[in-house]
Amino acid sequence: MNYKKILIAVDSSEYSLNAAQKAMDLAHQIDATVAAVCVVDASKALGNFDVGLLPGEALLALTKEAEQTLDQVGKMYMGKDLTKFMPEGFPREEIIHTAEQWEADLIVMGTHGRTGLRHLLMGSVAEYVLHHSKVPLLIVPLRNTK
Ligand code: AMP
Repeated sequence: MNYKKILIAVDSSEYSLNAAQKAMDLAHQIDATVAAVCVVDASKALGNFDVGLLPGEALLALTKEAEQTLDQVGKMYMGKDLTKFMPEGFPREEIIHTAEQWEADLIVMGTHGRTGLRHLLMGSVAEYVLHHSKVPLLIVPLRNTK
């Protein structure tokens, strides 16, 4: 397989930024093009009335955070122009959708590696993508920071 288009899925966590760096290194080695997707998570855009945060404000804050994350990833791309995607929706579905639309041939992501109750409650974005992606997936584990 000749990998030419690598899609990096990033949230603002250090794990996914570490995975993004790994993807950039790989892209450099095999001369592939990189794009990054940061999904504005619809499930978090409901606001929080307890702290006086309205849904519109929550969406704005999440959009800004996604922009900042993509800018950070853009700076890792060795002076080249990074293709950025910032869809709104559920991260796991939007990552698959973006990969199909952009015709990625490899997806790179991190994982928090949640286990037990946390895994049951929060699920795993990486696991969903693994089961639904039509192209290979590179998951950079939490402990791999070298
Ligand atoms: P997991 O810990 O298995 O839920 O997977 C976390 C990984 O999913 C992160 O390291 C990212 O690669 C990806 N991810 C989670 N949330 C988002 C998001 N909002 N946009 C893009 N990728 C995301």
